[in-house]
Amino acid sequence: MAARQLVRNATVFDSASGRLRRGSQIVIDGERIAAVVDAAQPVDGVAQSIDAGGRVVLPGLIDAHVHVVAASHDLSSLALQPPSLVTAQSSRILHGMLQRGFTTVRDAAGADFGLQEAVERGLFEGPRLFIAGFPISQTGGHADMRPKGVRQREFYCSCAGLGLIGAIADGVGEVRRAVREQVRNGANQIKIMAGGGVSSPTDPLEGTQFSVEELRAACEEAEAANLYAMAHAYSPRAVTRAVQAGVRSIEHGNLIDEATARVMKAHGAYLVPTLATYVALADEGARLGWSSDMLDKLGRVHARGIESLRIARAEGVPIVFGTDLLGHMHPRQGIEFELRLGAMSPVEVLQSATIVAARLMRQEGQLGELRPGAWADLLVVDGDPTQELSMLSDPQRGPLLVMKAGRVYRNRLQAA
Ligand SMILES: [Zn+2]
Repeated sequence: MAARQLVRNATVFDSASGRLRRGSQIVIDGERIAAVVDAAQPVDGVAQSIDAGGRVVLPGLIDAHVHVVAASHDLSSLALQPPSLVTAQSSRILHGMLQRGFTTVRDAAGADFGLQEAVERGLFEGPRLFIAGFPISQTGGHADMRPKGVRQREFYCSCAGLGLIGAIADGVGEVRRAVREQVRNGANQIKIMAGGGVSSPTDPLEGTQFSVEELRAACEEAEAANLYAMAHAYSPRAVTRAVQAGVRSIEHGNLIDEATARVMKAHGAYLVPTLATYVALADEGARLGWSSDMLDKLGRVHARGIESLRIARAEGVPIVFGTDLLGHMHPRQGIEFELRLGAMSPVEVLQSATIVAARLMRQEGQLGELRPGAWADLLVVDGDPTQELSMLSDPQRGPLLVMKAGRVYRNRLQAA
């Protein structure tokens, strides 16, 4: 039998109810949680025990919109790096995420099965990775990175696809093939570009991308492989078409209105806002050499970010934690917790980064909850995160302890 560990003296955050359970202990067998029991209950055969000192223990956090290969904010130059260099930089990004308490991340395109396996085999320390492979984009869409005037169909790159290169597909047949290629390469979810974007130079923000038939084909192919599609979309029109075509999660969604949120609710879709990246880019975009067109698009989505959360919350759309940070801005991941407090309670924000994210990813019972059978992914934090979230949002603080699959990757409990 695998070694038994005990986290004693714990105040357990029950992500399902949003309540704290004081005087608890968590029994861990190998990589999984065996039980959460009362402090008074004797537990046999414990090989190792961690004293949480009465502090709050959270399920490992989930960030449902990251790009672990985005070692640079400049995606064109990233595509011209060799895959070995992109991978080496990704290992740093993964390490940083795990240290910040993210034990699972959903990659919104870029990462491949090699990176996923590198983490699984312990070659890199990082969160468990759910990969999308290449983002699927129409010609001229958000993941078509060819500069204007370039006629070659394939984007000139040296990164072996690790640089966030789009799989360009036009027409139902090509879209099906592009999705099937991602499935063949081990995708856990399919990323499609259903509307304009900020970082792409040629597509209007409010535009829609792909025909409804193409969107349906992508969702159908994903479902055929027991996967689902996540769609990049900002405008009410782009979001509505994507959701009606069967997309499970809308990424960003900054420009949604009430009517759009109601369509999302009716179709059981999730919203994954990514406020952190707009704040980071608003701070740094001009210095990074972004064009005035791109900065103008950025300003519009940034201004509407928090409002989209309020609208989605009011209509009962499940909201999931995401950040979408690029390059050197990754350490700002925690500010997403602070930003969301403008529209949600601390408990709701914690749920968005645990149990609601797990539901979106069809990992209920496995992730995002401290309960028997789930992965032993947990954090010990300072203070009361049901009241305020500075222990997660302040980069100087962070969790005191991070455990993933029963293994401790960070322990500052002694110093605390
Ligand atoms: Zn993204």
